Amino acid sequence: MKKIILAFIVLISVQIGAQNKVYQPEREKINDLVHTKLKVDFNFQKQQLNGEAWITLQPHFYPTNKVTLDAKSFEIKEVKVNNVKYGFNYSDNEITIELGKVYKKGEQYEVYVKYIAKPEEVTQKGSKSITDAKGLYFIDPNDEDPNKPTQIWTQGETESSSCWFPTIDSPNQKTTQEIYMTVPSKYITLSNGTLKSQTNNANGTRTDYWKMDQKHAPYLFFMGVGEFSVVKDTWKNINVDYYVEKEYENVAKDIFGNTPEMITFFSDITGIEYPWDKYSQIVVRDYVSGAMENTTAVVHAEDAQQKKGQLIDENEWEGTIAHELFHHWFGDLVTTESWANLTVNESFATYSVYLWFAHKYGKDRADAHMYQDVQTYLQSDSEDKNLVRFFYHDKEDMFDTVSYHKGNAILHMLRDILGDDAFFQGINLYLTEHKFGTAEAHDLRLALEKVSGKDLNWFFNQWYFGNGHIKMNVTYDYNTINNKVTVNIQQPGKVFKFPLTIDVYENVGVKSTYNVWVDSEQNSFTFPFNKLPKLINIDAKHILLAEISDKKNLENYIFQFNNAPHYLDRRLALEEIVKQQQNSKDAYETVIKALNDPYFEIRKIALENIDLFQKYNKKDAISKIEYLAQNDKSTRVQAAALKVLGKLLDPIYKPLFERGMDNPSYAITGASLTSLYLIDKTSAISNVNTLSEDVKESLADAITTIYISENNKEELPFIANHVLKGMFLSEDPKIQQLYNGAFKWIAESDNKDAINNLTNDFVKLGNQYKKYNFDKMAVNMLNQMVQMQLLSSNKNKDELMLILKTGIAKLLE
Ligand SMILES: [Zn+2]
Repeated sequence: MKKIILAFIVLISVQIGAQNKVYQPEREKINDLVHTKLKVDFNFQKQQLNGEAWITLQPHFYPTNKVTLDAKSFEIKEVKVNNVKYGFNYSDNEITIELGKVYKKGEQYEVYVKYIAKPEEVTQKGSKSITDAKGLYFIDPNDEDPNKPTQIWTQGETESSSCWFPTIDSPNQKTTQEIYMTVPSKYITLSNGTLKSQTNNANGTRTDYWKMDQKHAPYLFFMGVGEFSVVKDTWKNINVDYYVEKEYENVAKDIFGNTPEMITFFSDITGIEYPWDKYSQIVVRDYVSGAMENTTAVVHAEDAQQKKGQLIDENEWEGTIAHELFHHWFGDLVTTESWANLTVNESFATYSVYLWFAHKYGKDRADAHMYQDVQTYLQSDSEDKNLVRFFYHDKEDMFDTVSYHKGNAILHMLRDILGDDAFFQGINLYLTEHKFGTAEAHDLRLALEKVSGKDLNWFFNQWYFGNGHIKMNVTYDYNTINNKVTVNIQQPGKVFKFPLTIDVYENVGVKSTYNVWVDSEQNSFTFPFNKLPKLINIDAKHILLAEISDKKNLENYIFQFNNAPHYLDRRLALEEIVKQQQNSKDAYETVIKALNDPYFEIRKIALENIDLFQKYNKKDAISKIEYLAQNDKSTRVQAAALKVLGKLLDPIYKPLFERGMDNPSYAITGASLTSLYLIDKTSAISNVNTLSEDVKESLADAITTIYISENNKEELPFIANHVLKGMFLSEDPKIQQLYNGAFKWIAESDNKDAINNLTNDFVKLGNQYKKYNFDKMAVNMLNQMVQMQLLSSNKNKDELMLILKTGIAKLLE
């Protein structure tokens, strides 16, 4: 699963996470699933599923005369064992069936259950309602919302497939499957495996028969129903399909079109050819997370559907597409035996994005992505958590930045320690030994040890079964008489063991690389030099999951920017250099030089930070920026350049900004609008008014900035529609700040439409992201809004408070 990251939500989950933690072992296997056959149809009006299930099972090892199946919130009509009607006990979301005789290992039997699944009534152990994990979701089932298509989709992970069919709902079970889905003829269906047949029924419905002959875990079962355009692609002789809403049919390949190349790449690096019979991806409405790796039937949230103008700038979903695909090896083919070992699924899926970016776009792009992932982990306050964790409160707690982002950084270190050949041969062995089965972190260690011949207990104990990350302070002692430098590494907190690469640069092109081993609170390493070093680069490969405190001066940073090869060498140096442009011509000139960096993000950082209001000559810089604004191969760099030119407040650029308003790239249009507004407010506003609603939605950030500057209260309802997304889903602190201001403005206003729009959005996102506790956050904030109205002098405040309180009531339902 790919999680969405909601800003600020971490705080709430930390409070909630501070509950009792119990030991959570792998579930005992008494009976094993063998095969699952389902016949289902849907009661849209009641949001229920009518099902028949034929489950083939066998004892795992010990003889047994009964079986227990998970079945959450069912009405059970009938149970048979091998075609003979049997009694059963149904309580606490489990059916227990006496089998009538003792079955031994290897003896199969078939349980038949006729039932109605009622996902709207799902409860956990007969108590707390868990509407955020109801397994089967009906979207606008009675066609009441003109803006929403009718859809049905399922979400099995972690243990919600048993909300729509009886099963042993545990990741250590594997079963083949076949599903007969009967739906109104106008709908398309999608499930795991191959569509074997379609039969039209007399009553205007159609029955689709889906079958998968390879076994997988119950949480990976999927059904999707609705009206979709199916855009066809292939990989070798396998169908690769993209299910999107009709409106996105013409951009489906811009979004998903790299999938076949990714399948080739992942098959190559794992040494295991894509093991399944097709690959489909479907985009659904109101999805409860980011995306999910249901075997051969991946589901994506609607944010995957981007407009052409956004895709020109960046396909923001490409990483997620890689993540879910790589799960088809790590997760679907070899599955974690329990949620405690979730890392064997999620760390690899997360690391796949690094691998894909490096392969497709080069190392800079991959390293930039890894840096973001590491920052996400570091900011998440998760230092106390082991990667493999048997003690947790709720299995959903395992889906955090440790299992994902930190796990990914740990794999990156492991690969560096082993070298590429051993690492990739090791994961090939791991996949081969456990394919169509389960594994835990130790299985990974054993496979890597077997291939490499190295002991890896020290690494796994430290990183998989231990918490935290490296923190080190670096100091230097120079001895200019003996021409030696001593590098002191101090670990003030927990002491980690790790190999460390140190590059000592005496001059341009004169570099010595030292590989040392750090294993104590205090380690010192002495290196000779001929000339006083211009730079000592600690962790030169930027491979360690570490916070490093190292004192460098401006000269060091400028040398580092110009000579050290890694993306982070340039980025981290540039971030320091930009701070000194006022006082140092060298600093300023290095920033100008960064405008030519081969990697777009470095050019963008230079543009966002260049200071054109200081004492040095800026003619060269400005002509370079003018060039980038019109010619850079990245539209995001062009946009950043247009914004810099806007700040110069020079009317000479007006035609450039006006032309930019017609550019197909939304980044360029948005930047042009922002800059035009700075030099000609009237023209900018009249330009906004000519934009189509669609484009306006996509440029919401730029337009909101203008409305706020204009104090334009008439447009508050428009702004209200974007506030929550900006505050909680954007990763850009400037955007978060913009909408925090907008939130306050709307909360205090007497604008009924705006309050209404914002309240509706709170209710929608609150319900959608319950598993992230967004509903609790929403109730808090709506209560704040009620208080603000109460204290205001708004004439219609009673009416506004009623809207807010109705929203709160809907969230507390
Ligand atoms: Zn995942």
